Order: sequence, then C-alpha cells, then structure tokens
Amino acid sequence: MNIILMGPPGAGKGTQAEKIKATYPIPHISTGDMFREAVAKGTPLGLEAKKYMDEGRLVPDEVTIGIVEERLAQPDCAKGFLLDGFPRTIAQAEALDRVLSEMGKKIEAAVNISVPDEILIERMSGRVTCKECKTVYHVKFNPPAKEGVCDKCGGELIVRSDDRGDTVKKRLAVYHEQTNPLLDYYDRSGVLCNIDGDRSADLVFEDIKKVLENLG
Ligand code: ADP
Ligand code: ADP
Ligand code: ZN
Repeated sequence: MNIILMGPPGAGKGTQAEKIKATYPIPHISTGDMFREAVAKGTPLGLEAKKYMDEGRLVPDEVTIGIVEERLAQPDCAKGFLLDGFPRTIAQAEALDRVLSEMGKKIEAAVNISVPDEILIERMSGRVTCKECKTVYHVKFNPPAKEGVCDKCGGELIVRSDDRGDTVKKRLAVYHEQTNPLLDYYDRSGVLCNIDGDRSADLVFEDIKKVLENLG
C-alpha cells in the first residue's frame, strides 16, 4: 500500500498518520519529522534545513528529494509506505514518480485533508509535541491529562518554533502557492481522494479508512 497524506500545515496529517499506522503496519515517512530530528542532532542536513524551516519556507527540492529517495530504498518500505508532508512541490511529485517507477511501484492514493485557513491557524497555534516520543497534542482540542506532560511517556510538551507568530501565516501562503497545485497533478492521475478535515479526528479517520479499504 503506497499512500501520500496531503494537506496544509495543521490539517491533521501527523494525527491521522498515527491512526493509520495502528491499523496498517507500514512505515510513516514524515519529511518534517526527519528534518526536525536532523535539526535536534545538529547534523549538516539539520543546519541547512533549519534556515528554511524557521522562515516557514520549503527546504530546497534537491535536499528533500534526496532524503526521501534514500528512505524509500530501505527494506521496510517493500510492502508499502505512508508519505506525510512529501511531496510539496510539482518537482518533488515528478521526482517521486520517477523514483517509484524505477522500483516498479506507484502511488495508489493521495489522501488530501482539507481544512479552512482560520481553523488551521487555531490548530497550529495550540499544537504541542512531546520532546521524547513526538506525540502531538492540542492545548484545547486534544489536551494531555496533565498540562505540559505527555500522557504516553511523561515527556515534556514543547511548542514547535515554526508554530509561533508570523511563521504560521507564511507557511499557509507557501502551501497555497507551491503545494496546492499538486492536487491537480494527482487528480489527473486518478489517485486523489478529498477528505473534509474540519471534523473530529475520529470522523476524519473513518473516511480515510474507507479509502484505504478500497485499495484492497
Ligand atoms: P506541517 O505538518 O505543520 O505542515 P511539517 O512537519 O510537514 O509541518 O513541515 C515543517 C517544515 O519542514 C516545513 O515548513 C518545511 O520548512 C520543511 N519541510 C517538510 N516537508 C518538506 C518538503 N516535502 N519539502 C520542503 N520542505 C519541507
Ligand atoms: P499536520 O501534521 O497536518 O501539521 P497535526 O496532526 O500535527 O497536523 O495537527 C495539528 C494540530 O491540530 C495538533 O495540535 C493536533 O492535535 C490538532 N488536530 C489534529 N486533528 C484535529 C481535528 N480533527 N480536530 C481538532 N484538532 C485537531
Ligand atoms: Zn511522549
């Protein structure tokens, strides 16, 4: 099962990826998580990515395509994968198609979660993430039992630096300009599935499950 999760920042891609993983045991490949990990470790990739992330801009295509290509070649992707936050530009989508076709594979579904901008701003502004296990919460919509503490591992909950201030609006503008055109790209290849993401996470997941069940 080769799937893409698409949608603007804050749409609930990570939240839905967690639910999908629990039902379908395929690797979850989040370019945002990979970049954040590299930033935390201070690797050359992290230092390069940080410049762009802090400004709400996209990391250059060559860099991003390179790390995804490497990840898709790992043996755990043989039976399928769930891409989250990649591709985000037409160039990335074309590169992905090329890499997959060399492996004799293709994308079976591009699940697009859509949410109005004003709700996205609310979601990003209240997002907190566990420093240890990376579980995502929302201070209002999905709060932890104890403020600032992860329910799962007791880790500290932190606010992503790019979820603050003007960066949120910049990321939305970048989405509309560079990533939204991808919907047409996947619509033309017949794999686009639109999901209304402005509902509870459980209801959104019900619809995603229906899409995935139909893939067989
Ligand atoms: P969100 O889920 O809120 O959209 P992500 O974790 O997916 O955020 O991405 C955070 C940041 O990482 C992006 O703003 C961008 O700078 C960088 N990034 C993630 N994925 C990509 C990608 N496919 N291409 C370029 N930059 C990316
Ligand atoms: P993305 O990966 O697309 O950026 P996340 O899954 O991190 O999005 O969700 C963004 C924020 O919104 C998080 O704080 C999350 O807890 C919250 N959230 C996710 N899905 C929903 C939903 N259906 N309703 C309300 N809040 C949600
Ligand atoms: Zn945790």
